[in-house]
Amino acid sequence: MQPRMQVLQGDITTLEVDVIVNAANSSLLGGGGVDGAIHRAAGPELLKACQQVRQQQGECPPGHAVITTAGNLRAKAVIHTVGPVWRGGGEHEARLLEDAYRNSLLLAEANGYTTIAFPAISTGVYGYPKAAAAEIAVNTVSAHLIRRPQLQQVLFVCFDSETAHLYQRLLTQQGEEP
Ligand code: ADP
Repeated sequence: MQPRMQVLQGDITTLEVDVIVNAANSSLLGGGGVDGAIHRAAGPELLKACQQVRQQQGECPPGHAVITTAGNLRAKAVIHTVGPVWRGGGEHEARLLEDAYRNSLLLAEANGYTTIAFPAISTGVYGYPKAAAAEIAVNTVSAHLIRRPQLQQVLFVCFDSETAHLYQRLLTQQGEEP
Protein backbone atom coordinates (compact mmCIF):
# COMPACT_ATOMS: atom_id res chain seq x y z
CA MET A 1 0.00 0.00 0.00
CA GLN A 2 1.23 3.51 -0.81
CA PRO A 3 2.17 5.44 2.32
CA ARG A 4 -0.27 8.27 3.08
CA MET A 5 2.51 10.71 4.05
CA GLN A 6 5.26 11.38 1.52
CA VAL A 7 8.03 13.92 1.05
CA LEU A 8 8.86 15.61 -2.23
CA GLN A 9 11.56 18.11 -3.04
CA GLY A 10 10.46 20.80 -5.49
CA ASP A 11 8.01 23.54 -6.30
CA ILE A 12 4.59 23.11 -4.69
CA THR A 13 2.85 25.17 -7.40
CA THR A 14 3.33 22.44 -10.02
CA LEU A 15 1.54 19.66 -8.17
CA GLU A 16 -1.65 17.98 -9.25
CA VAL A 17 -3.29 17.37 -5.89
CA ASP A 18 -6.73 18.40 -4.65
CA VAL A 19 -5.38 21.08 -2.32
CA ILE A 20 -2.18 23.10 -2.10
CA VAL A 21 -1.57 24.79 1.23
CA ASN A 22 -0.17 28.31 1.16
CA ALA A 23 2.00 29.66 3.99
CA ALA A 24 0.18 32.98 3.87
CA ASN A 25 0.39 36.06 6.06
CA SER A 26 -2.53 37.43 8.04
CA SER A 27 -3.44 39.96 5.38
CA LEU A 28 -4.18 37.15 2.88
CA LEU A 29 -3.14 39.58 0.16
CA GLY A 30 0.06 37.88 -0.97
CA GLY A 31 3.68 38.12 0.05
CA GLY A 32 7.07 36.62 -0.74
CA GLY A 33 8.36 33.06 -0.60
CA VAL A 34 5.90 30.28 -1.30
CA ASP A 35 3.00 32.75 -1.06
CA GLY A 36 4.41 34.83 -3.92
CA ALA A 37 5.13 31.71 -5.98
CA ILE A 38 1.57 30.42 -5.54
CA HIS A 39 0.02 33.76 -6.49
CA ARG A 40 2.27 34.09 -9.55
CA ALA A 41 1.39 30.60 -10.76
CA ALA A 42 -2.32 30.89 -9.98
CA GLY A 43 -2.83 34.31 -11.59
CA PRO A 44 -5.09 37.23 -10.61
CA GLU A 45 -8.13 35.05 -9.88
CA LEU A 46 -6.47 33.86 -6.67
CA LEU A 47 -5.81 37.37 -5.41
CA LYS A 48 -9.42 38.27 -6.15
CA ALA A 49 -10.64 35.26 -4.18
CA CYS A 50 -8.37 36.19 -1.27
CA GLN A 51 -9.61 39.78 -1.33
CA GLN A 52 -13.19 38.49 -1.09
CA VAL A 53 -12.38 36.31 1.92
CA ARG A 54 -10.56 39.22 3.48
CA GLN A 55 -13.59 41.48 3.00
CA GLN A 56 -15.93 38.90 4.51
CA GLN A 57 -13.80 37.65 7.40
CA GLY A 58 -11.07 40.22 7.99
CA GLU A 59 -7.51 39.15 8.70
CA CYS A 60 -6.60 35.49 9.19
CA PRO A 61 -4.90 35.05 12.59
CA PRO A 62 -1.93 32.68 13.07
CA GLY A 63 -3.07 29.04 13.31
CA HIS A 64 -6.23 29.62 11.28
CA ALA A 65 -6.95 28.61 7.68
CA VAL A 66 -9.24 29.68 4.83
CA ILE A 67 -9.98 28.08 1.47
CA THR A 68 -10.22 29.60 -2.02
CA THR A 69 -10.30 28.53 -5.64
CA ALA A 70 -6.96 27.79 -7.26
CA GLY A 71 -6.94 29.98 -10.38
CA ASN A 72 -4.60 28.56 -13.01
CA LEU A 73 -3.02 25.97 -10.72
CA ARG A 74 -3.52 22.28 -11.38
CA ALA A 75 -4.84 21.90 -7.83
CA LYS A 76 -8.57 22.27 -7.22
CA ALA A 77 -8.28 24.60 -4.24
CA VAL A 78 -5.79 26.56 -2.17
CA ILE A 79 -5.91 26.58 1.61
CA HIS A 80 -4.23 29.65 3.05
CA THR A 81 -2.95 29.18 6.55
CA VAL A 82 -0.88 31.52 8.66
CA GLY A 83 2.00 30.06 10.63
CA PRO A 84 3.54 31.73 13.66
CA VAL A 85 6.48 34.09 13.45
CA TRP A 86 9.33 32.52 15.48
CA ARG A 87 10.01 34.66 18.56
CA GLY A 88 12.24 32.27 20.47
CA GLY A 89 9.68 29.59 21.34
CA GLY A 90 7.95 31.19 24.33
CA GLU A 91 5.04 32.74 22.42
CA HIS A 92 2.97 29.60 21.72
CA GLU A 93 4.71 29.13 18.38
CA ALA A 94 4.56 25.30 18.55
CA ARG A 95 0.83 25.25 19.30
CA LEU A 96 0.11 27.77 16.56
CA LEU A 97 2.12 25.75 14.03
CA GLU A 98 0.21 22.60 15.02
CA ASP A 99 -3.05 24.50 14.64
CA ALA A 100 -2.05 25.66 11.15
CA TYR A 101 -1.50 22.06 10.00
CA ARG A 102 -4.57 20.66 11.77
CA ASN A 103 -6.97 23.40 10.64
CA SER A 104 -5.76 22.99 7.05
CA LEU A 105 -6.45 19.25 7.16
CA LEU A 106 -9.90 19.80 8.68
CA LEU A 107 -10.78 22.38 6.04
CA ALA A 108 -9.67 20.08 3.21
CA GLU A 109 -11.81 17.27 4.60
CA ALA A 110 -14.79 19.55 5.18
CA ASN A 111 -14.66 20.37 1.47
CA GLY A 112 -14.46 16.73 0.43
CA TYR A 113 -10.81 16.75 -0.68
CA THR A 114 -8.55 13.75 -0.15
CA THR A 115 -5.08 14.76 -1.37
CA ILE A 116 -3.17 17.74 0.02
CA ALA A 117 0.32 19.23 -0.25
CA PHE A 118 1.98 21.33 2.47
CA PRO A 119 5.05 23.57 2.25
CA ALA A 120 7.29 23.82 5.33
CA ILE A 121 5.10 26.47 6.99
CA SER A 122 6.90 29.25 8.95
CA THR A 123 10.41 28.04 8.06
CA GLY A 124 11.18 30.86 5.59
CA VAL A 125 10.91 34.52 6.55
CA TYR A 126 8.95 33.59 9.69
CA GLY A 127 12.16 31.98 10.99
CA TYR A 128 10.88 28.81 12.70
CA PRO A 129 13.80 26.37 13.20
CA LYS A 130 13.54 23.82 10.40
CA ALA A 131 14.02 20.61 12.38
CA ALA A 132 11.52 21.57 15.08
CA ALA A 133 8.99 22.68 12.48
CA ALA A 134 9.36 19.43 10.50
CA GLU A 135 8.77 17.42 13.65
CA ILE A 136 5.57 19.33 14.41
CA ALA A 137 4.39 18.93 10.82
CA VAL A 138 4.91 15.17 10.73
CA ASN A 139 3.59 14.51 14.25
CA THR A 140 0.48 16.63 13.77
CA VAL A 141 -0.40 15.14 10.39
CA SER A 142 0.37 11.61 11.52
CA ALA A 143 -1.83 11.90 14.65
CA HIS A 144 -4.61 13.34 12.51
CA LEU A 145 -4.45 10.61 9.85
CA ILE A 146 -4.91 7.83 12.39
CA ARG A 147 -8.46 9.04 13.02
CA ARG A 148 -9.26 10.16 9.46
CA PRO A 149 -9.44 7.43 6.84
CA GLN A 150 -10.85 9.75 4.17
CA LEU A 151 -7.56 11.62 3.67
CA GLN A 152 -5.61 9.56 1.15
CA GLN A 153 -2.39 11.45 0.60
CA VAL A 154 -0.45 14.18 2.40
CA LEU A 155 2.65 15.49 0.63
CA PHE A 156 5.32 17.49 2.43
CA VAL A 157 6.88 19.63 -0.28
CA CYS A 158 10.37 20.84 0.56
CA PHE A 159 12.11 23.52 -1.44
CA ASP A 160 15.62 22.67 -0.23
CA SER A 161 17.42 19.39 0.31
CA GLU A 162 18.16 20.08 3.99
CA THR A 163 14.43 20.26 4.75
CA ALA A 164 13.69 17.24 2.55
CA HIS A 165 16.23 15.15 4.50
CA LEU A 166 14.71 16.23 7.82
CA TYR A 167 11.28 15.06 6.68
CA GLN A 168 12.65 11.84 5.18
CA ARG A 169 14.24 10.92 8.48
CA LEU A 170 11.03 11.65 10.41
CA LEU A 171 8.85 9.66 8.01
CA THR A 172 11.21 6.71 8.23
CA GLN A 173 10.92 6.85 12.02
CA GLN A 174 7.13 6.86 11.67
CA GLY A 175 7.32 3.71 9.57
CA GLU A 176 6.32 5.53 6.38
CA GLU A 177 8.48 5.12 3.30
CA PRO A 178 9.60 8.64 2.34
P1 ADP B 1 6.79 31.66 6.06
O1 ADP B 1 6.46 33.12 5.98
O2 ADP B 1 5.64 30.83 6.60
O3 ADP B 1 8.10 31.40 6.73
P2 ADP B 1 8.00 31.29 3.40
O4 ADP B 1 7.29 31.31 2.10
O5 ADP B 1 8.99 32.38 3.65
O6 ADP B 1 6.86 31.22 4.52
O7 ADP B 1 8.74 29.89 3.58
C1 ADP B 1 8.09 28.69 3.88
C2 ADP B 1 8.83 27.55 3.21
O8 ADP B 1 8.43 27.46 1.85
C3 ADP B 1 10.36 27.71 3.20
O9 ADP B 1 10.93 26.48 3.61
C4 ADP B 1 10.67 27.99 1.73
O10 ADP B 1 11.93 27.48 1.35
C5 ADP B 1 9.57 27.23 1.05
N1 ADP B 1 9.23 27.60 -0.34
C6 ADP B 1 9.44 28.77 -0.98
N2 ADP B 1 8.96 28.68 -2.25
C7 ADP B 1 8.43 27.44 -2.39
C8 ADP B 1 7.80 26.73 -3.47
N3 ADP B 1 7.60 27.29 -4.66
N4 ADP B 1 7.40 25.44 -3.25
C9 ADP B 1 7.60 24.86 -2.04
N5 ADP B 1 8.18 25.47 -1.00
C10 ADP B 1 8.60 26.74 -1.17
